[in-house]
Amino acid sequence: MSKDYDNIDYTQQAAHYLRQSGVLPGKIGSSHAHALVAASLGFGSRIAMRDDPDGPSFANQWLGREEPNVPKISEIVAQMRSTSLRPEEASAIAKAVQDGLTPACACGLHSHKSMPIGFVHENDEAEWVCPECAADVEEFGICGLCGTAYIYRTSELDHHGLCKEHRGEFEQSDEEREDQESFAEYVLNHD
Ligand SMILES: [Zn+2]
Ligand SMILES: [Zn+2]
Repeated sequence: MSKDYDNIDYTQQAAHYLRQSGVLPGKIGSSHAHALVAASLGFGSRIAMRDDPDGPSFANQWLGREEPNVPKISEIVAQMRSTSLRPEEASAIAKAVQDGLTPACACGLHSHKSMPIGFVHENDEAEWVCPECAADVEEFGICGLCGTAYIYRTSELDHHGLCKEHRGEFEQSDEEREDQESFAEYVLNHD
């Protein structure tokens, strides 16, 4: 892994994203940003989220994939003073939080549509790629057998466009080849 994901707090990253990316109208303070991230994950405050034994792991790369709690965001926005945010914007805020919770692409973009690279399952750690970078066919592709649920670096795919798990699926074993040859011989001799 070329990038060090250790010790990233994705909730912190999301709060920073809400404040710095210009994705929300006007300026929001740090405490408001943290409150919105916590609300999206279903909590009344960052402290409540942190102290809940069943609360999320802040180091989990997949927090942005969780269904955001839009009603909770509206509720929290309605309670905020000195903010240009409105409760009706809860869905847009939820999307921005999801973008912020998702690991950054190598290009710097945060998008909830980013995908982990490789044969990666939920809660595994990976490098992530945004849809725009993933569209570069020189760099990225999908395995013909895995389908669109996974994205691979082209260097990880073989000349049939298959991932490491599926490699060889279209290659014949010596035994299969011998079987086929003897069958061909049989057909030739019994025409
Ligand atoms: Zn990108
Ligand atoms: Zn595959």
